[in-house]
Amino acid sequence: MKASSVPGVSGAEDKMRIILLGPPGAGKGTQAKVLAEKLKLTHISTGDILRQNVSKGTQLGKQAIEFMSKGLLVPDELVTKMLTQRFEQPDVRQGFILDGFPRNIRQAQTLDEILKQRNMSIDMVVYLDASEPVIIQRLTGRLVCSACGAIFHTKNMPPKKDMICDNCGGSLYQRADDQVKTIKNRLAVYQKESAGAIQYYEKQKKLHRLDADEEAETVINNIIHLTVQYNDSPKV
Ligand code: ADP
Repeated sequence: MKASSVPGVSGAEDKMRIILLGPPGAGKGTQAKVLAEKLKLTHISTGDILRQNVSKGTQLGKQAIEFMSKGLLVPDELVTKMLTQRFEQPDVRQGFILDGFPRNIRQAQTLDEILKQRNMSIDMVVYLDASEPVIIQRLTGRLVCSACGAIFHTKNMPPKKDMICDNCGGSLYQRADDQVKTIKNRLAVYQKESAGAIQYYEKQKKLHRLDADEEAETVINNIIHLTVQYNDSPKV
């Protein structure tokens, strides 16, 4: 194995561009945060950027909140504009993990255009496949840190101190859209919209499916294994 292909050891090949796809609750956010740290990549979560806009009360946040609170997708135009601005920032050059985008085929096509203009392309798409009972259990117990964004779970990953973040001491909260009714809407929207994006990457032979019902640590090890295989494979 080449030294530079070992995760965590820096080298040109570590500058990967990875997309995490999968239903809400599959663990995209949790896995993306760990992966970003291990592989020294920038984590870009469209959900996190939208929630920051909502809490700051920006124009975008005001427009997005009515869709987010119902579990609907924020219109492509708004999200795409937001993502294009995010791609202006220099940290994107060190490689990235995209979580929450694309959610449909139009967004997948737009992403390729945004990347092409910057001489970049996606290396690998990991599809995290989770079943509905697991998704509901995960999302209804999910806790998020209001300061650093770390993710906990009331049962699966409880914080050491009640409602306090282990990492930074910030207070934990439950996301407004993590209610059973909204979760079911998010799942329905996901099933309807995401098939096109999944096929798009299947056709490009970039899609790798993983069982995301497994424990977080197993899933992360499986993703890392995929990145090692990718870095060791000959590039055409
Ligand atoms: P989840 O995938 O668990 O639903 P996210 O944090 O990724 O959570 O997204 C939360 C909400 O933000 C979505 O329900 C949707 O309203 C909005 N959102 C996030 N990313 C996108 C996107 N790429 N396109 C449209 N809406 C988005």
